[in-house]
This record gives sequence, C-alpha cells and structure tokens, in this order.
Amino acid sequence: PAAVPTIDDVVSVRRRHIARSQRNYYRNPMNLVRGRGVWFHDEDGLAYLDSLNNVTHVGHAEPRVTAAATRQLRKLNTNSRFVYPQIASYVRKLVATLPDPLEVVFLVCTGSEANDLALRIARQVTGRQHIVNIDGAYHGNTGVVTGISPNRYKGPGGAGAPATTHEVVIPDRYRSTYGYDDADAGAKYARDAAAVIERITADGRPPAAFIAESLMGSGGNIVFPDGYLDGVFTAARRAGALCISDEVQVGVGRLGPWWGFELQGVVPDIVTMGKPLGNGHPLAAVVTTREIADAFDTGMKYFNTFGGNPVSCAIGEAVLDIVEQDGLRENAVSVGGYFAQSLRELQQRQPLIGDVRAEGLYLGVELVRNRTTRMPATEQAFMVTELMKERGVIVFPNGVHDNVLKIKPPMTFRREHVDLYVDALDEVLSLPELRSAVQS
Ligand code: PMP
Repeated sequence: PAAVPTIDDVVSVRRRHIARSQRNYYRNPMNLVRGRGVWFHDEDGLAYLDSLNNVTHVGHAEPRVTAAATRQLRKLNTNSRFVYPQIASYVRKLVATLPDPLEVVFLVCTGSEANDLALRIARQVTGRQHIVNIDGAYHGNTGVVTGISPNRYKGPGGAGAPATTHEVVIPDRYRSTYGYDDADAGAKYARDAAAVIERITADGRPPAAFIAESLMGSGGNIVFPDGYLDGVFTAARRAGALCISDEVQVGVGRLGPWWGFELQGVVPDIVTMGKPLGNGHPLAAVVTTREIADAFDTGMKYFNTFGGNPVSCAIGEAVLDIVEQDGLRENAVSVGGYFAQSLRELQQRQPLIGDVRAEGLYLGVELVRNRTTRMPATEQAFMVTELMKERGVIVFPNGVHDNVLKIKPPMTFRREHVDLYVDALDEVLSLPELRSAVQS
C-alpha cells in the first residue's frame, strides 16, 4: 500500500490544492489518523480528548454505526428515486422523535442544504421573500443561506445583509440589552424582535419566515431566556410568517430532549437537522407539516441524488437507536450538568472566565480580559486553543468575538472526561502569559 501522507505532506498539499478560504484548526495541526469514542489519535500515537465534535454524536468510529454502514454498503446503495426498505424504517423512527404535526420529511445531505430548502419552502408557500434572522447566527454555506448568516455576511469579506434579510438582536444575556438579572429578559428580547417583524410587515416587506437555532451555536453558545422563542414565534405567525428551527448543531438529544425547541415550549413549522444525524456521514433533513409540504408541491419535482440513500438511512437509524438504547440524552443532561458546575467553580478562581453557558452537553466558556468591561479575550482564546492541544484536549473558540470556547463533545462524554478538560483549562489559564492578560 502507498505510504500514508505525513503531516508535512498534508500541509503542503493543502497549501497547494485546497482553497485557502477552507481554514483548518491550529497553527501546527496534527495528522489525525484514528478516532475512538471521545478520543482522536494522531500519526505519532498521541491521543486528544475531543470536546467539540457534535458531528460524531455517538462517538468516533462507533462499532454499531460502522456495522450498519458496511452491512448496507455490501448490500445496496442507490439514488433516492428508487424504493427500498431502509427509508421506511429510518423515517418512521425520525418522525417518532418529533411532536405533531411535524411528519413530512425531506432527506438531504448537509445542514446548509436543509436550511436552503427550508427557506425555499417558506418563500414558495407564503409567496413572500423576506426573512427574519438573529444577529450573530450561522446557517450554512450556500449562496442563499450565507445571506441569512450574519456570522458570515458581517464578518471579514462579507458584503452585509441582503435587502431581504432582517436581523433581530441576539438575546445574549451576558452582552446584550437584558441581563441574567432580568427575569423578563425572554419576553423583552421577544418584544424587540416583534417590533422588527411588525415594522417590516407595516412597510410592505412581510416576512416569509423567522429562522433561529434553539440555542445559538456559532453565535457564541447563547442559551435563550425562557419564553423567548414562544414570543417571537407568536409575533412571526401573527405576521403570516413560518417559523423555522435550525437544529443542525443542537438537535438529536444534545440538550436533553430530542429537539432543542422543546425546551422553549414551541413547535416550529419547519425543522432542519444535520451534523449529528449521520455521526459524520453526510445526512441531513427538513421536516415539516403535511399542509406545508403539500403547499410546496406545485408539480415541480424535488430530487436529491444522495439524500436518504439506503446507506445514509441505515446509518441514521443506527444513530437514533444508539441514542435511545444507551440513554445518551440522559447522559447529556447529567454529564452536562456536572460540566457546567465544574466550569462555574473554575470561574470562581480564573478571572479570564467571564461567563459559562450550558444546556445539556452544549456549553460555552466566554473569556474576557476584564469582567467589568467584558473586553473579549479573543487572542487569549486562540492561545488557550494551542495550549490545550499541547495538553491533549481539543477546544476551539466561536461567537461574535471568537472568544467563547465551544463545548459540544460526543454524547458519550463522561465525568472523568469533564475532569480532564477542566483540569487542563485550569492549568492553562494559570500560565503567566494568560494571567497577564487579565486587566485589574
Ligand atoms: N446550521 C447551523 C446552526 C450550523 O452550525 C451549521 C454548520 N456549522 C449549518 C447550519 C450548516 O451545516 P453544514 O456545514 O452541514 O452545511
């Protein structure tokens, strides 16, 4: 067999043949050759604890997923216009995780594609073009969804919001208008969002949809205050818009319930899902109501070559079975709770930690140089990333200021892994180069 490319080969091929806009993690990346459970292994045999793969939901190289995939690959794979049993078993199980009346499924390959299709459905069904989104959000990489992703259109190289995109304020209780001390923050952020919806409706630009994650991922791990989505959904529906929940990052039990919107007590009109569905295999979905799906069917065909092929369905079914059989939703709540508590204890003695946000196994650690001014510790967050890697822990910042360590590990994470993470972070934050960044 040909020699496996070394890290130097890979870096040089990437430099030459992979477009530079496709950034990789780390200044000096490792050559990852294997994954098992919550661990990565590099070419030198070093192990790294994976705290951020919400894609490998049930663990790296999970044997039951591998078995389902290889069994089906040996039997049959084909495009999705043929009829085969796997789609029935999978879709039946997927729909069973969702509340009524969400029952009609489009299987696609990526979260971006799911959101692109969700917008297309909303626009066609309502006959409107305008979309209301939340500032800071990321919804994917197609042309259309880049246009509803402030995380991109407001970032480097971005051209600003398209004329059909209307942002509402990010309901970030650490940095925005209403704080953790405001018991009505949810209603107040919703009221401000409703004002945007009412304004554009009144001036002749009524929205086709309001789109939001149920907990904002790339926007900085923003846990919504109670009542927020309920308030905005009510205002959006009053204006005749559909409500889309983007569950691409947080779905499939990571927050405890199968779907994050359940925590906000709402039922969306359209749900999009992706990343964890296939445990790393490209599988994503749009789920909506019979009424909306029928209204979308004007006679024009919708065809997706790979979406929901037999292998994808076999993998998707294995993932749902494992989450259920292994009690991973319950694990997310208990280990996530322990993680949040451990990080809050660390926050007591590490002044760089400004805020800890958590829901199940989705957590964010916001680093600031000054707790009073909340000056983002962006450069320090990248230093932490490199220093944690030296200690065998994979972390990475996100958020509007790139200063929030995102934590969304495989759902098989245990307390001992939390302890490894927290001890390494404690050690790193105690180093002089980080301590000296704290402004007194
Ligand atoms: N929605 C959200 C909330 C996401 O975080 C992402 C990916 N980071 C996407 C959509 C796009 O998914 P994909 O990369 O699979 O196209």
